[in-house]
Amino acid sequence: MSRSAHPAGPRHADVLPEGHYTAPPADLNALDPKVWAHTVTRDQDGVVSVGGIEVTRLAEEFGTPAYFVDEADFRARARAWRTAFGHDADVFYAGKAFLSRAIVRWLHDEGLNLDVCSGGELATALSAGMPADRIAFHGNNKSEVEIRTAIEVGVGRIVLDSFQEIVRVAHIAQSLGKRQRVQIRVTVGVEAHTHEFIATAHEDQKFGIALADGQAAEAVRRALALDGLELVGIHSHIGSQIFDMAGFEVAARRVVSLLAAIRDEHGVELPEIDLGGGLGIAYTSDDDPREPHEIAKALSEIVTRECEAAKLGTPRISVEPGRAIVGPTAFTLYEVGTIKPLDGLRTYVSVDGGMSDNIRTALYDAEYSVALVSRTSDAEPMLVRVVGKHCESGDIVVKDAFLPADLAAGDLIAVPATGAYCRSMASNYNHALRPPVVAVNDGEARVIVRRETEEDLLRLDVG
Ligand SMILES: *Cc1c(COP(=O)(O)O)cnc(C)c1O
Repeated sequence: MSRSAHPAGPRHADVLPEGHYTAPPADLNALDPKVWAHTVTRDQDGVVSVGGIEVTRLAEEFGTPAYFVDEADFRARARAWRTAFGHDADVFYAGKAFLSRAIVRWLHDEGLNLDVCSGGELATALSAGMPADRIAFHGNNKSEVEIRTAIEVGVGRIVLDSFQEIVRVAHIAQSLGKRQRVQIRVTVGVEAHTHEFIATAHEDQKFGIALADGQAAEAVRRALALDGLELVGIHSHIGSQIFDMAGFEVAARRVVSLLAAIRDEHGVELPEIDLGGGLGIAYTSDDDPREPHEIAKALSEIVTRECEAAKLGTPRISVEPGRAIVGPTAFTLYEVGTIKPLDGLRTYVSVDGGMSDNIRTALYDAEYSVALVSRTSDAEPMLVRVVGKHCESGDIVVKDAFLPADLAAGDLIAVPATGAYCRSMASNYNHALRPPVVAVNDGEARVIVRRETEEDLLRLDVG
C-alpha cells in the first residue's frame, strides 16, 4: 500500500502501536506560536524564517543539524522573568539548561543571576564576565577543587546538599579565612513532574536533605554552629516541566514551617527562600505553560500567606528557571535523509542528527513537535517517527507526529523548543560532531558555539 493512498492516520488507530498522537493538525503548514520562538514565521514563499532569515539560507551557511536560537526571544523571556519578580526577588537562570558565553552576557545584560553546578559551568560564567556574587553553586557532589574555587572567586552562595558537604565547605572557607554564604537544599516530600505532583513522606532520590525525620533541622543546627558558614536560607527544587502550582504550594508551606522551627529553636529568621526551577514549557500544542508574571504572583502570595500565618517576616524569594527561559527560544534544523514507510504502522523519517543532539526523547520519553520548514505542502498528513542516524533503535527525536506525505530527502524539517537540555546534553556517540548553536537576531546570524570538527575529536585521542 502506498503512503499517499493510505496515510497512517488516526483511522488506523486500532492497528497502530500505542503513541501520543491525536488527530493530525488541521493545517500542517501552520506554526503554533506556543512551541516556536517569537520571531519564527512562514514567509510568502512558504519558507520558514527566524530573526528575519530563511532557514534555507541558514542551512546553506551553517549546515545541518544545527540549533538556532532567537536572541530577541531569549532576552524577552529573561526580561519577563526579571520584571515579574521585581526587586524583592532574584531570578537565577539554571545554566545546565544551556550555557555559553553569549548566553551569560545576555543574562548579565538583562539583570539575571546564574546557577552553576560544575567547575566548567563556573569557568564559563566567569570568563564571560558574570560577577561571582551573582552566581550560585549547586550539586550533590561538588569536588574539593570546585568548592575551593567557588569560595576563592567569591560566589554569592553555595547550596549545601549533604551533611558531609556542610563540614567540607565550612573547613575550606575557614582555611581561606572566609565566611561563605550558603543555603541548605531540603527535600520537602513533593515530587512534581509535568501535569501532576505527588506529595510523599520521603523522597527516594540523591538530592538534598530530607525535611522528614528532622534531618533538615539537624543540618541547620550543624551549619549554624560552623564559623566558616553564613546560613542565609533554605532551598527546594521539586522537579521539572511542571505546570501545576500545587506542588510549589506544598513545598513553600513546608519550607516556611522549617523557617518557623529555626526561629523557635535558634532565634534567627533566615532571610532567603529559594523555590527552585522546573516550570514547564510547550513542547507540543497540548502543553499550556504559565506566564512568568502568573508564576511570580502565585509564588509570592503563597510565601507571604504562609509567613504571615507563621508570624515570620517575608524572606527574599528566589527562583531558578532554566528550561522556561531558553527552551522555547531555539529549534533544531535537520535535513531529511531516508524515508521508510512501514505499512499499517508509521513512516520512519531519518535525519542527519539524532540522540547525539537531542537525548531527551530516549532519556525521558519526551515529546516534541516537528514541521517541514523549507517549503509548504498540500499533501495529506502522514504519521511519522523522526529518528536519527545512530546505531540504536531508541534513537528517536520525535516519537509521534504528522508531516506531509510528499516529504522527500533533502527537505528541511525543524524540531522546536530544543533550547534546553539538548546542546547541553549532546554527545559524540558514533563520533558525531556536536552541532553549532547559531544566534539569530534582526537579520543577522552569528555562531555562538561552533560545530565540532573531526580535528576536535582527534585532538582528544592521544593514544
Ligand atoms: C535543573 C534545576 C533547575 C532548572 O530546572 P528547569 O526545569 O530547567 O527550570 C533549577 N534549580 C535546580 C536546583 C535544578 O537542579
